[in-house]
Amino acid sequence: MRRGSGDREPAAGREAERVGLDAGAAGEPEREAPEEPREERAPGRPRAAREGDASAVPPPPQPARARGLRLHREAAGKGRGCGRSSGNPADELRPPRPVTVDSSKARTSLGALKISIRQLRWKEFPFGRRLPCDIYWHGVSFHDNDIFSGQVNKFPGMTEMVRKITLSRAVRIMQNLFPEEYNFYPRSWILPDEFQLFVAQVRMVKDGDPSWKPTFIVKPDGGCQGDGIYLIKDPSDIRLAGTLQSRPAVVQEYICKPLLIDKLKFDIRLYVLLKSLDPLEIYIAKDGLSRFCTEPYQEPSPKNLHHVFMHLTNYSLNIHSGNFVHSDSTSTGSKRTFSSILCRLSSKGVDIKKVWSDIISLVIKTVIALTPELKVFYQSDIPAGRPGPTCFQILGFDILLMKNLKPILLEVNANPSMRIEHEQELSPGVFENVPSLVDEEVKVAVIRDTLRLMDPLKNKREKHFPDIYMDRKHRFLPVSDRMSSSKLQLSEISIVRSQPHKKPLAGKEGPSDCEPAGASDTNPNPEAHLPSICLKQVFPKYAKQFNYLRLVDRMANLFIRFLGIKGSMKLGPTGFRTFIRNCKLSSSSLSMAAVDILYIDITRRWNSMTLDQRDSGMCLQAFVEAFFYLAQRKFKMLPLHEQVASLVDLCEYHLSLLDERRLVCGRSSRAGGRAPGSSTPQGATRSAQQADGHPPCCTDSARKSSGPRRALS
Ligand code: ADP
Repeated sequence: MRRGSGDREPAAGREAERVGLDAGAAGEPEREAPEEPREERAPGRPRAAREGDASAVPPPPQPARARGLRLHREAAGKGRGCGRSSGNPADELRPPRPVTVDSSKARTSLGALKISIRQLRWKEFPFGRRLPCDIYWHGVSFHDNDIFSGQVNKFPGMTEMVRKITLSRAVRIMQNLFPEEYNFYPRSWILPDEFQLFVAQVRMVKDGDPSWKPTFIVKPDGGCQGDGIYLIKDPSDIRLAGTLQSRPAVVQEYICKPLLIDKLKFDIRLYVLLKSLDPLEIYIAKDGLSRFCTEPYQEPSPKNLHHVFMHLTNYSLNIHSGNFVHSDSTSTGSKRTFSSILCRLSSKGVDIKKVWSDIISLVIKTVIALTPELKVFYQSDIPAGRPGPTCFQILGFDILLMKNLKPILLEVNANPSMRIEHEQELSPGVFENVPSLVDEEVKVAVIRDTLRLMDPLKNKREKHFPDIYMDRKHRFLPVSDRMSSSKLQLSEISIVRSQPHKKPLAGKEGPSDCEPAGASDTNPNPEAHLPSICLKQVFPKYAKQFNYLRLVDRMANLFIRFLGIKGSMKLGPTGFRTFIRNCKLSSSSLSMAAVDILYIDITRRWNSMTLDQRDSGMCLQAFVEAFFYLAQRKFKMLPLHEQVASLVDLCEYHLSLLDERRLVCGRSSRAGGRAPGSSTPQGATRSAQQADGHPPCCTDSARKSSGPRRALS
């Protein structure tokens, strides 16, 4: 085991230089309400319920997913794609209608969402709508509502993916492949499964270096707001009794040397938009929040381990400290803008471009670690070929800066708080929610600009009013487009951001909810009064630097191809055998019997570790483990990532040959030919399907992708 991240030198510099600074800064203080609560998962519960509504109000009963689903979807599918042309020339001439947003499930983001919709002059449906809407805004998860068209602001499976254990597992796979690139995540162990491993590894390092005095942080899985978190100096201090079995946890190296400001520890909340999964599109908000501890920091010692106000930066904890400072200034108080921190660091001579580019690297790499399994969830919930919504999601990244300015990922929130009010203590112990202009400033910008990026009618509007939009492009070109990334300076960012811009307060400006749908007709360019977009694209912009990391993503494409049954998330033994056969991986030294044993061994172990007992079969992580094993056997002398890359290349190559053969077969069968073993052209297709448990793929790019044939977005 290597030493803790706390002792490591920054190593993210390699991409840092290449990525370059390209993010902006705002400049107002901000306060934030606690995260949307996460739901505790009950083993065996269906995913819809598991990810569903986390509030005290029970969710409406979910209709059986299979029953009647297709009919619904087909009906809804007809109203889908509102941006598309109807084919009627009269429609082309008519000015585009406002975008419709269903906000009935927005929960605590409702306030910021309402203001955003008003600013955009779109049409809100606060109680839902019988007809499909263009956009559905969910407060908690993809499954808040049954929707079959339009766009929804959650990806299926995201809540699962960012839980502490799942995130640790996903990052660990990447750490095994690319240890240097993924050293921004503290070394972690999953409890109770890896308790013995944790004990053994810590003992080994201590034996080698008796001066090493580590600290560890124990975080319950699925916890939030610092709930149940504690620090320990030795593995024997873990509170094993009873709790771990019922509540698994992650134990992690504690970063002992964080960057301090005013002697206080702080972390950074950054908003990241996952605009699309395939092709991957990532945006980062140009400013974030910094949340401060309320007791001066000291390195952990047995005396201070339990001082939560010293070690945990959670707003929800520190708000209860007598030292919590509400401030309207950007650069003081217990919550400040990240840009104010950067300004301060810059004045001390810190290279803040490098800090930003290290953060951008961290965000891209983390999303790359999450996407493979997200794709599996996506194809399960929205199978290819069936109508369904497209997805996007705002994520909250919590990042700690070490003393040496290296960013460390603490966690990712699927439902970052978007509240625009904060708690104020009216009298001792009596709190009231009061509007917070600062929250509104930061969060409305993130939601509004997410909507602008997702606008389904943008093309239509631009086509309809080309002159106005051309003009707008010149006047309101995003900061990112106006300045090349390499030339961007913080001073320039501040100038752009500080241009006078008044945002309407809720209920004070903008069209009311009851305004006629044609409200935007009077001002054909509803964005004319808005500032430049606060979200900056980082992927595919920096794809060239990061694409080599997407190996597990390519493995997930192979996995999905052999899943066979639509909606399944686990690979059966036949699917695994077909994968081996079609990719020509069996040999005299790897018989099909050995393949079956490999499948059983790995699948059994993974199924005993995960709580998810819904389907039997091999989950993606188990497939990845089997894939690593096969790669190591086949390409013995190479480093692991090269072994795996070689095997992925080989599999994709064989599958592309297979696809080409089927394409030719398909052509000849259409021309009257018969595939061997089939008596009808349909039979030929069917036998091809049966050969790999999947419909034949007829794309020329199959060699490259070998993946799902539908854009996941
Ligand atoms: P939660 O979801 O409960 O907020 P986090 O993982 O965000 O859990 O941890 C809570 C707080 O604990 C963080 O905001 C941070 O201040 C501190 N923390 C978490 N992990 C570490 C770590 N590895 N090193 C140092 N501090 C940490």
